[in-house]
Amino acid sequence: STWSSAEVRSTFLDYFCQKQDHLFVPSSSVIPKKGEGTYFTNAGMNQFKPIFLGSVDKNNPMASYRRVANSQKCVRVGGKHNDLEDVGKDLTHHTFFEMLGSWSFGDYFKKEACRMALELLTKEYKLSLDRLYITYFAGCESAGLLPDNETREIWLELGVPESRVLPFGMKDNFWDMGDTGPCGPCTEIHLSHRGNSDCSHLVNADSPEVVEIWNLVFMQYNRDISQKLLPLPSQHVDTGMGLERIVGVLQNTMSNYDTDLFMPLFNEIHKNSKYGPYRGRMGKADKNNTDKAYRIIADHIRMATVCIADGLLPDKSKLGHKLRSIIYRCIEQSFILKMDKKRLSSLVDPVSDILGDAYPEIPENESKIKQVLESCENGFWKRWGESQFSFRKFLRDRDSNKEFQVHEFLPLLDGAYGRKISIDMLESVARTFNVPLDSDQLHDLLAKRNAEVQPSPVPQSSNTISAALLQSLLSQNVPETEDVYKYSYTSKD
Ligand code: ATP
Ligand code: MG
Ligand code: MG
Ligand code: MG
Repeated sequence: STWSSAEVRSTFLDYFCQKQDHLFVPSSSVIPKKGEGTYFTNAGMNQFKPIFLGSVDKNNPMASYRRVANSQKCVRVGGKHNDLEDVGKDLTHHTFFEMLGSWSFGDYFKKEACRMALELLTKEYKLSLDRLYITYFAGCESAGLLPDNETREIWLELGVPESRVLPFGMKDNFWDMGDTGPCGPCTEIHLSHRGNSDCSHLVNADSPEVVEIWNLVFMQYNRDISQKLLPLPSQHVDTGMGLERIVGVLQNTMSNYDTDLFMPLFNEIHKNSKYGPYRGRMGKADKNNTDKAYRIIADHIRMATVCIADGLLPDKSKLGHKLRSIIYRCIEQSFILKMDKKRLSSLVDPVSDILGDAYPEIPENESKIKQVLESCENGFWKRWGESQFSFRKFLRDRDSNKEFQVHEFLPLLDGAYGRKISIDMLESVARTFNVPLDSDQLHDLLAKRNAEVQPSPVPQSSNTISAALLQSLLSQNVPETEDVYKYSYTSKD
């Protein structure tokens, strides 16, 4: 018998809230409030940042938090933890995922935290100890940080064999939410899919056979702008386990996608597609990248749904732009599956069914979410063809041996090659031509230019294609979705 994702989530919360005296605090929005960070909420600890920093007002209910648990909606697009490029290529990284979290704010520390995590995994989820690998902080001389041998000893005392307790450096075992802010050494639990044979060499090696599931951070420092580590007023525990990953483990699959969190969504995508159903292939075996497209669409639609439910709109703001760009990526992938146009909103129903009980704001906002997706899709189709055309013209005009520089793209935004193109559309078109474009850099450049008092010079390139020429070129050259698919996606992995 396997676990449903709902049972996995509730077992975690019941364990901490009913058996270990933690208080349930609902997930915060994926759109951070002031002081919670500048990109999307990327971990469960974001909403508790003021507690770590010791800056909570006495009258704030947070001031009384000692032991807390929840499942937090997280998005890792942009900022320090940005997993966008991995999504679809592997089976364990999503743009949106749920983090099952537990905290001790100045209450228990390392020993209790490790004991609880091990008990939940082996006694409640009934995973065999033989499948677990533990990592702990190896120290870092240049940062003046000692190895966390205390944690190593704790795991040994808890019965984990020495050969499965492994030291790693800053990159894997020192956690921070961003370039500044609360941080500290961590200890992590990884799970092997290879039974009890020795897999220690596969830990933190991007292997699908050993997956990182749970991170236990011991918050002890605040990193300031000069990168100095200042001790926090007290010591805290901050843990986070990826729901999709532990569900995969408990549903006996190496893939987060072959679970009840994604399968119903694949079925709905399939209904709108001219391709066969999802088959879980990866890399070269996934010849036309159709399974990857399934994964990306399913992933991105979850992200978009959750963001819109939390009040974000696809607009020019920093996060609104990210949202629109995710929706556009989703549409691009729908070419690969030859999906019916303008049907993304039909995918909201399964997302809402899957996540609605845990996050009621999704079903509550269902019709709004669909409307926003529809209008975004309409906007895409309205401009897609002519933007492709303009981009070709831009490519033709430039020296193809030169590397692309961000400033080169400005005339496209200004309308030097036809109608003005929005950044999101430009990104999308550049992707289909496999042209590298760093949208964050372009954003910054544009912001800088807009801040300048001087009006920008009229772009040099010719702005005047006759309507007739445009028409003729459009009819000959603008790739229909089929062609777009052919020339833009075949060469890539
Ligand atoms: P990885 O090394 O796999 O990228 P991480 O070390 O960046 O993960 P943490 O910041 O430690 O992840 O987050 C805690 C937990 O959240 C991870 O152990 C994992 O289970 C889960 N997690 C992190 N990133 C993702 C993601 N993009 N999609 C799904 N789950 C994730
Ligand atoms: Mg990561
Ligand atoms: Mg990691
Ligand atoms: Mg980690």
